[in-house]
Amino acid sequence: MYAPLLPGAAAGTLDPRHIVVPLRAHLQRTALRVGYVVGGDPGRDTLRVQMISGDIKEYRYDHLVVALGSVSRVIPIPGLVEHAIGFKTIADATALRNRMVRHFELAEGLDDKVARAGYLSFVFVGGGYAGLEGIAELEGFARDALRRYPRCRETGVRFVLIDAAPRVMPEIQRQLADWTVELLTRRGVQFRLSTTVTEVRPDAVTLSDGEVIPARTVVWTAGVRASPVASSLGLPLEGGRIVCDPHLRVRGYENVWAIGDIAAVPDPAQPGRPCPPTAQHAIRQGKLLGENIVRVIGGREPRPFTFKTLGAFADLGRHRAVANLMGLRVKGFPAWAICRFYHLAWLPGLDRKSRLIADWSVELLFPRDLAEMGQLGHPPPLAVSTQPLDNAAGSDSVQADGAAGASGEHP
Ligand SMILES: Cc1cc2nc3c(=O)[nH]c(=O)nc-3n(C[C@H](O)[C@H](O)[C@H](O)COP(=O)(O)OP(=O)(O)OC[C@H]3O[C@@H](n4cnc5c(N)ncnc54)[C@H](O)[C@@H]3O)c2cc1C
Repeated sequence: MYAPLLPGAAAGTLDPRHIVVPLRAHLQRTALRVGYVVGGDPGRDTLRVQMISGDIKEYRYDHLVVALGSVSRVIPIPGLVEHAIGFKTIADATALRNRMVRHFELAEGLDDKVARAGYLSFVFVGGGYAGLEGIAELEGFARDALRRYPRCRETGVRFVLIDAAPRVMPEIQRQLADWTVELLTRRGVQFRLSTTVTEVRPDAVTLSDGEVIPARTVVWTAGVRASPVASSLGLPLEGGRIVCDPHLRVRGYENVWAIGDIAAVPDPAQPGRPCPPTAQHAIRQGKLLGENIVRVIGGREPRPFTFKTLGAFADLGRHRAVANLMGLRVKGFPAWAICRFYHLAWLPGLDRKSRLIADWSVELLFPRDLAEMGQLGHPPPLAVSTQPLDNAAGSDSVQADGAAGASGEHP
């Protein structure tokens, strides 16, 4: 999955399937086995994998590449795990979009304006690019949706972004970060910086300054950590990431390699520090890794990872973005156009690129798609499938009492 386009998938500017690259179609000369890695023994060159059938199978390898990515980094805040949604996977993006549509429907049917406001308030925690892009895109989605919901329009939507730091997006220059905050503030997004969340309840968020924000949707975008599976592989770890040398080889092993978010590869741009967990590093490490394994098998020396970050982008929706391009500051429409070309260039496969272009072209002509896909993959039982508003499907239930529980909504 190409995660940088996840905010667009959540906000209905593109079809979520179009940013998922089907491995079997793209890796045509690869013997593919789909399963969940559960452990490994690098001393015996073996890996344990739970197959789709549920069986655990042990694989022997000549070379092992670990590229298991990262998961949302959660901290012990009461109610966070129970009531907040992550923003890391297609399932997160789809669940968030479904929840927004469902909450518009619920709110539209409520006479109590205060209760309605709770369903129309969306809190994002974390002001990195994922949080900023997420809130910008979903605010745009909500604005479009409001046209179809007269009572919700009367109440209005509320978007709040919270971050413990005094500024957003540390990856870009201060001026661009300030411009981003100004732009989103003009669109109605509220910022609570130098502020933390102390409690998440199903219907409200409490902040460190005592403020209570009535909101039934909390999106957690406050960073990532290496996949916890890293600790079951018997490999050296540093801050949860697998320790690698500059050639992408895991410290102490000749035939084990790691790349991407799970790997602590020395960052050529910041000596003494590991590469940041970004797609631009992961993709380039992947290319070098292929080359290095071929070199090693052929008896040659592997090459070191020398890529220095080119900058950072944040697509702020509605044809606006900010970009730090090798120190050059770009904002507004030019940054947005660069951003789109960049993602298009990196999305693998001509078929995926074509589908993305088609999605983006349709988006220029029509309002965002409000179709809710809560039943996707959860068909109701055949025997009761003729009932209206069938709750058996679980994740897409719209309950008359307005108690669509947060955890129940998240697949
Ligand atoms: C919302 C969002 C926006 C982002 N925007 C940008 C951006 O604009 N620019 C940028 O450079 N980066 C961006 N990133 C970061 C970027 O997506 C990641 O750095 C990149 O995807 C890391 O690649 P990876 O291959 O290490 O991991 P992933 O892309 O996460 O791939 C890991 C793979 O491993 C699989 N896996 C995990 N555990 C197991 C297991 N136990 N067994 C088998 N398979 C497993 C997963 O299913 C997944 O397919 C963004 C991330 C998010 C969430």
